Amino acid sequence: MSLNMTPASLSTPWWIGLTSLWTGRKSMSYELASIYERYLPRFKQRYSRATSQDEWSAINAILGCRTPQYGEIALACDDCPYQRRTYCSCGHRACNQC
Ligand SMILES: [Zn+2]
Repeated sequence: MSLNMTPASLSTPWWIGLTSLWTGRKSMSYELASIYERYLPRFKQRYSRATSQDEWSAINAILGCRTPQYGEIALACDDCPYQRRTYCSCGHRACNQC
C-alpha cells in the first residue's frame, strides 16, 4: 500500500479550485487555460483593443478546450464493461493541451 501525500508548500493553490468550479474542469493544474481564466478580465482591460480576432479565437479555444464547450465523447471497450466519458479538445494549434 502506498500513500500519495503532497507537502503543503507544493499543493494546488486555493484559486485553482475556484476556477475549476467556474469551468467544470475535472482537474486543474498550471494550465494556460487556468492562467487565462484568472487574468482574462485584466487582460481585456489592458489589451482588448490590441488583440486581433485570431488571438481572441485562440484564447476562446484554449479556454473551452476539454470543457463542455466542444462537446463530450463516450469511450467503451468492446471486450469489457469499461466506459468513460470525456470532453473533446479544441484542436487549435495554439492550445497546449491539444
Ligand atoms: Zn485544445
